[in-house]
Amino acid sequence: MTTRIDRTAVLSVSGGMDSCVLVYYYASAGFNLHLLSFDYGQKNVNELTYAEKYIAKAREHFCKGSNAIEIRHRVIELPLAQLLENSDSALINASRSMPYGPATTESLKAITVPYRNPNMLIQATTAAWDVEASIVAYAVHYNEYPLPDAQEAFVKAFNQMLTVAMNTSTIKVEAPFLSFTKAQIVRLGASFNAPFELTWSCFEGGSNGLEEKHCGKCATCLDRYNAFKLAGIADPTRYANNPKSYPPLERKQGTAGEGA
Ligand SMILES: [Zn+2]
Repeated sequence: MTTRIDRTAVLSVSGGMDSCVLVYYYASAGFNLHLLSFDYGQKNVNELTYAEKYIAKAREHFCKGSNAIEIRHRVIELPLAQLLENSDSALINASRSMPYGPATTESLKAITVPYRNPNMLIQATTAAWDVEASIVAYAVHYNEYPLPDAQEAFVKAFNQMLTVAMNTSTIKVEAPFLSFTKAQIVRLGASFNAPFELTWSCFEGGSNGLEEKHCGKCATCLDRYNAFKLAGIADPTRYANNPKSYPPLERKQGTAGEGA
């Protein structure tokens, strides 16, 4: 049935809160969901466990009753760490320590995994082709230091590439939170009753002996903490270190990477 196919979306999701809200966003709109998470050799193994947790909660909420949708989830292995054997990215290199404190241009360089999002999106697009879905989405959002693959120009170019690659534009990649701040995503998630307590952001997840606590020191922990604070929504996260000890950096207008 064509209508059914058109109501399927393939989402590339991590265990993070943005991905969780993305799932609730499309589920609330009535889409059947094919969710893909990626094991790319990241130190943050906790995120895959937490993806399972919030997806299980979403199933409880959306997969019952007369308007029930289907939610399928798979973890796909991506050999990024094998291909990037010379990489010193702190996300995949065990000997590289995680930079602490708010994001700077330097710290972002230290955690870059080249072509991570494009790799994930091409897998998701391939899956979308297989199930005849027309939408692929991922949860990038506005950031003070916008990553190249978290911008409209990238999404547009990726869609052009897809059209050329198969000589058809039946599948479109969407990034509905592209202009949202993380605090706005928290507010949107709260409006859906998204289970933030079942999401995981910390880059050090599972690799630092902290188990179920966020480190409270890495850039993504601080982003998470500040987003809840700015949104005025209670933060259910347990932090091993008080994120308050890393106040946001003073920034000069139009400059990036100032500060330590
Ligand atoms: Zn952390």
